Amino acid sequence: MTKKISILGSTGSIGKQALDVIKNLDIEVLALSAKSNIELLENQIRQYKPKYAVVFDEYFANKLSKNIKDAQTKVLSGMDGLCQIACLNDCDIVLNSLTGMIGLKPTLEAIEAGNNIAIANKETLVVGGELVTNAANNKNVKIIPVDSEHSAIFQCLQGCKEQKTISNLILTASGGPFWDKTENDLENVTLEQALKHPNWSMGPKNTIDSATLMNKGLEIIEAIRLFNISEDKIKVLIHRESIVHSMVEYCDGSVIAQMSVPDMRVPIQYAFTYPERKECPVSSLDLTKVPLTFFEPKSYLSKCIDLCRSAVKIGGAAPVILNAANEEAVRMFLDKKIKFLDIQKIVEISLKNIPIFKNLSFDDIIDCDLKTREYIKRLDV
Ligand code: MN
Repeated sequence: MTKKISILGSTGSIGKQALDVIKNLDIEVLALSAKSNIELLENQIRQYKPKYAVVFDEYFANKLSKNIKDAQTKVLSGMDGLCQIACLNDCDIVLNSLTGMIGLKPTLEAIEAGNNIAIANKETLVVGGELVTNAANNKNVKIIPVDSEHSAIFQCLQGCKEQKTISNLILTASGGPFWDKTENDLENVTLEQALKHPNWSMGPKNTIDSATLMNKGLEIIEAIRLFNISEDKIKVLIHRESIVHSMVEYCDGSVIAQMSVPDMRVPIQYAFTYPERKECPVSSLDLTKVPLTFFEPKSYLSKCIDLCRSAVKIGGAAPVILNAANEEAVRMFLDKKIKFLDIQKIVEISLKNIPIFKNLSFDDIIDCDLKTREYIKRLDV
């Protein structure tokens, strides 16, 4: 049976690869969306012929409307548009590949509408926390991970009958470009160096998060939400080759790993075809070519991981503050206003100084996010 999909964020890295995967699957695209890149969105519309296209920016939405007058696609805009395509009736799966906080509301609305979600938007799980997982449980909505590590764990958990048989989840990390740097080296690493990721091609925000290992810390929080597991049962290992995408260790000593060449199309496709598997046009894995290595990250490199662990243990607004502070700090680093190690300092100071409330509503989350960003703008760094 043809599955129907709505894609929130189709012009970014995950969105583009999702459309590539869909070419070989029995999937109909109901809706696409972009922030402002209407040239690429128009190409996608002409190829996939969705019923709806959302352009977040209203000016560009109007422009696109004029450009595709000849097409059958209805153009919507803003948060209303995103929520509308997240809630479509005849939709089997919503891919949320938006970047940032903007992804939270459409996720909550999709859950409310009973639509299953393939999640590539970290904020939904990190910031939305229990608000999202409780809503999904109440509505019996599946949240299927797209992130390579969480997809790996999700795959390794197929066939797991009892939660208590899981000893540990082992998240692998490429280690980013600075895994072998000394503490002193890190003081003066440049933006250009930080943007060179060895194995994955991602947007600049994720690439910097990968260099600080904040990405891995956020993934610990994501794993806690997705798999309902405690923080102390999640380990991190640096694995330079990015072949083992993560592992599950069971109580009998068995460790199950998911491996493939590093290509996001594998986890993206699994989220779409789950519980089935289909052929995917990626190269097959040749285990004779690369020796696989694993080691613990150096403690001065894991500062951001530690911050994430403590934020999730504190709970309430702490992950919201952590996420907003990190986003602002990364933006400042990308604008060359601060140094690399200032990113972790800004996050640490924010967690220390901003009041942490518990039991957050959606409005509380948005409010706390804004307050954190304002706090950082006033910081003298
Ligand atoms: Mn990842």
